[in-house]
Amino acid sequence: MLPAMLRSLRLVAGLIGFLLAGAAAAQATAGAGQPLETVHLQLRWKHQFQFAGYYAAVEKGYYRDEGLDVVLHAGTPDRQPVSEVLSGRSQYAEGNSEVLLARLQGKPLVALAAIFQHSPSVLLALRKSGIVAPRDLIGRKVMFMNGMNDADFMTMLFNEGIARDQLSILPSSYNIDDLVAGRVDAFNSYLTNEPYYLKQRGLEYTVLNPINSRVDFYSDILFTTDDEVRNHPKRVEAMRRATLKGWRYAMDQPDEIIDLLLSKYQVPKSRAHLEFEANAMRPLILPDLIPIGNMNPERWSHMAETFALTGMISRKYSLEGFMYEDPAQRRLPPWVVPLLVAALVLLALAMLAAAYFQRMSHRLRQTESQLRSANEALNDKVQEVTALHARLQEQAIRDPLTGLFNRRYLDETLDHELARARRDGYALSLAMIDVDHFKAINDTYGHQAGDEVLKALGTLLQAQAREGDIACRYGGEEFVLLSPRMPLATALERADQWRTRFAEQRVRHGDLELRVTFSVGLATYPDHGATAAALMISADQALYRAKALGRNRVEVAQRA
Ligand code: GH3
Ligand code: MG
Ligand code: MG
Repeated sequence: MLPAMLRSLRLVAGLIGFLLAGAAAAQATAGAGQPLETVHLQLRWKHQFQFAGYYAAVEKGYYRDEGLDVVLHAGTPDRQPVSEVLSGRSQYAEGNSEVLLARLQGKPLVALAAIFQHSPSVLLALRKSGIVAPRDLIGRKVMFMNGMNDADFMTMLFNEGIARDQLSILPSSYNIDDLVAGRVDAFNSYLTNEPYYLKQRGLEYTVLNPINSRVDFYSDILFTTDDEVRNHPKRVEAMRRATLKGWRYAMDQPDEIIDLLLSKYQVPKSRAHLEFEANAMRPLILPDLIPIGNMNPERWSHMAETFALTGMISRKYSLEGFMYEDPAQRRLPPWVVPLLVAALVLLALAMLAAAYFQRMSHRLRQTESQLRSANEALNDKVQEVTALHARLQEQAIRDPLTGLFNRRYLDETLDHELARARRDGYALSLAMIDVDHFKAINDTYGHQAGDEVLKALGTLLQAQAREGDIACRYGGEEFVLLSPRMPLATALERADQWRTRFAEQRVRHGDLELRVTFSVGLATYPDHGATAAALMISADQALYRAKALGRNRVEVAQRA
């Protein structure tokens, strides 16, 4: 039974493996040899090293290999990633924590990959402004890119216990000169970009990094819409795959991408500036530490929780569906494992039950066959015993030497036969036969010769007896023949015939031929006795007379 169980389990495992392999194969073959699909991707800002991975994916043909013609759109104050994607002008875009915020505010956005593990968004202030910590911003003019929606900074203020109305918040001009000229006191910027300008101009500055206020958000998130994920799942997968491949390349070959930015994209930045940017990005992307694009659901939850705490979203929010799950790594739906486990448990139980019933039925069959053989053996025994019993019964009434009935049988039968004769009114004759000079035969020729004589006489009586006659060896060399329904005359005639025949025949014993005679005493019911005893005595007396008269003769009893 155990091998059968293992076979079934192997079958189930094989089936699951087959289904998974089939799904993987279907995925691998899709999209080959088809015309390129045009896809628009909105970058968050102007072309710069910040988007290096996308340029690499285009340049290295990673998108093309996936059947995609990806058009990269540089960002401008008017072309912001979230609104571009929501409007449908781009299917994909790259944005920062605003993507999560928009999702939690009900916008159908899906995060595909977080390129920056830590956000590069910082506030810059000139050293001379005296701003060294967030609290120094109170009462100052501050530029935020998305105004009140700039989650990183809003959270930083919240964590520092600063109310928004304690600051004078202005929408970003995107022009660092406003900071340099002192038109604002703090300016939102990217750690990877603006500090370079200030450095170049020899200006001393302070960085207010939200990370120091326990704000640690993902940034530069590749995202799309629910619709795209639902309607073009293969394209989403392909976009993500090719983009991450591009990022890997860009992180490994930054100089090549810098060349590309300068030549093809005509970025109005110096090589040194781009190199600064590339270097500043590494600790934020951590390409040597973390798989590029990695997203941790707990970090997303933490960000959402922070938004809820600061009051940017309502406390009742759901992250369901926001974080894209790579189908290659996607875990089985949550109900599959319990279902499989339940199915396996049921299967195991069913097999155990089957094994149990099989064992029981095997035992039953065994018991049945044991019973059958026991029954057969018993039947044999019964037959044997019956036969033995019959044999014993027979032996009890037979004389073993001659095969005639014995004295016991005669004693039992005689009364019964007499009663019948009395009832039915017929004659019954009894002949008592005794071998003459038998002792002499024994003495002369040996006991065995005597036995031969007894057997010969037994054979004669047996042969001559009619149906209904009872021939017995009464004891020693004495025999009795009981003949119901036989009148005296017939009995006498027959007895004399037998006597003559026996006297004439020779009893063989080895080479010897013995001449033997017998005498007969004949008595008849009712003439010579009405009871068994009386009849026997009459016959015995007649026999005695026969002996006395010279033997080898038949004498009839005298009437009582
Ligand atoms: P009678 O003519 O007067 O009858 O003489 P008998 O010798 O036959 O008389 P008796 O009754 O003295 O002898 C009977 C003998 O029969 C005695 C006994 O040894 C012998 N005898 C009894 N039973 C058997 C037996 O089964 N086999 C043999 N061989 N001899 C037997
Ligand atoms: Mg005798
Ligand atoms: Mg005798």
